[in-house]
This record gives sequence, C-alpha cells and structure tokens, in this order.
Amino acid sequence: MKALFQLLSLVLFIASCSQAQHKKFAVTKTDEEWKKQLTDEQYRVARKEGTESPFNNAYHGNHEKGLYNCIGCGQALFSSNTKFESGTGWPSFYQPLHKKAVEENRDMTFGMVRREVHCSNCGSHLGHVFEDGPKPTGLRYCMNSASLQFVKK
Ligand code: FE
Repeated sequence: MKALFQLLSLVLFIASCSQAQHKKFAVTKTDEEWKKQLTDEQYRVARKEGTESPFNNAYHGNHEKGLYNCIGCGQALFSSNTKFESGTGWPSFYQPLHKKAVEENRDMTFGMVRREVHCSNCGSHLGHVFEDGPKPTGLRYCMNSASLQFVKK
C-alpha cells in the first residue's frame, strides 16, 4: 500500500512538472509555423530562448515614443515611458505595460539562477528580469529587440 502511494505521488509529481513546461498559451503554433512567421534570428531568440548580441540590435538606443509589442502575437508588452538607459546594449524597461502581459520562469542555465521572462499570450521568450533597476520598481527587464516589434505613437 505504501509503495502504491509512493508511485502515485511520483506520477503526480512528474505530471505537474511536465505541465509547467508545456503550458498551453492562447496563441499556440507549431515550430514550422513559427519559422514561417519569424526571421531566423527572431525564431532563435523568441522560440528557442536565445540571446541577441548587445548593442547590435534594433531597439537598445531607440528613444521614440511608442509601444513594444510581442513579435510572436502582437500583444503590447512595454511602453517607451518605462524604458531607460541601462548601458547593457539591450532595450531595458523598469516594468511591463501590464502585470499580466508577461510571465516568468526560473532559468538555471549557464550556472546562474535568473528570472526568464516570456509573453503571457504566446510564450515567446523576451529576456530576463533583474533586481538592479531604477525607481520606482527597482527592476530591470532586459529584453531582446528580436522578440519585440516597436510601434511608434
Ligand atoms: Fe506573444
């Protein structure tokens, strides 16, 4: 009976783990569909959790007023009003447009523990959030331009 209970616990544990990794997003596409929609660089960053080169990207030095939308689904993610000069070479914001626009996962790759950030609507990887940002939040959303589409106001 005890062994059966342990087995059941294990099955439930594995089920909950795989559920977290394969969350169903409102916008869901196959790899082939994403590849058709996105450039190679956008696909590598947004769908394969890649990171683009610092400075050599579209929006790190963009100072125009407008919104930064998800490259995958078009959801509005960040406003130019919360963009700041982080000096990192990646577009940086101190908060998302709405709390529910982005979600986080714990990222333990490269020997670091980081907070991975993705679009809540389609799961596209956006970047990471760090706790060394400016006021009022103290957060630094370090984003990849490749995952964003800027729309001028
Ligand atoms: Fe999206």
